Amino acid sequence: MKQMKIRNICVYCGSGRGKNPLFSKAADTLGEAMASAGIGLVYGGGGNGLMGDVARSVRASGGTVTGIIPQALVARENPYTDVDEYVVVDNLHQRKMMMFERSDAFVALPGGLGTLEELVEQLTWVQLDFHQKPVVIANIDHYWDTLLKLFDQMSGEAFIREGLVPRYVVVDKAEDIVPLLTRVRTSEPDISIEQLA
Ligand code: AMP
Repeated sequence: MKQMKIRNICVYCGSGRGKNPLFSKAADTLGEAMASAGIGLVYGGGGNGLMGDVARSVRASGGTVTGIIPQALVARENPYTDVDEYVVVDNLHQRKMMMFERSDAFVALPGGLGTLEELVEQLTWVQLDFHQKPVVIANIDHYWDTLLKLFDQMSGEAFIREGLVPRYVVVDKAEDIVPLLTRVRTSEPDISIEQLA
């Protein structure tokens, strides 16, 4: 893997908060850690749920936030506009592409179908070698265990196989995410993120 400087992290997470208070705590912890490390947040622009939590946490700690929201969701997702950059785009595809272009790494906190869709899309892009930006699955309180088991099943059935290996790192704690990605930034070019985990 190429050496990368992590300037902005795209965080995918729920527009709801879930029931487990550890999820919101993880969003806060990640936001603080990003701001302290001088890493900006790129996210979906909403003010609700874990999305709002992570964005407010970055801002409250003095970090930079870019929110990217499709016009059709402005009324629905209670946009958080007190940010450094708030971009309204035409549709979900533009949002996803802009989030991708603006980011050097991707983190999935707990979330629902939107989060899952965005995470899996990045994993398929990595699998197909479209990019080599790190993807981190934040498995807070085992939230993503079932998904990870499904990935194992896909490997067992050889649907995930040589030439189609999704690269991702699983962390259990939100506080491990930024140090992990900072090590990627300072690594020698040929050390892969899998070797660092
Ligand atoms: P959720 O995890 O379902 O709460 O959704 C998290 C975010 O993903 C919300 O901002 C949704 O609007 C967004 N979202 C849902 N479906 C998609 C999609 N197909 N592409 C991009 N974003 C989506």
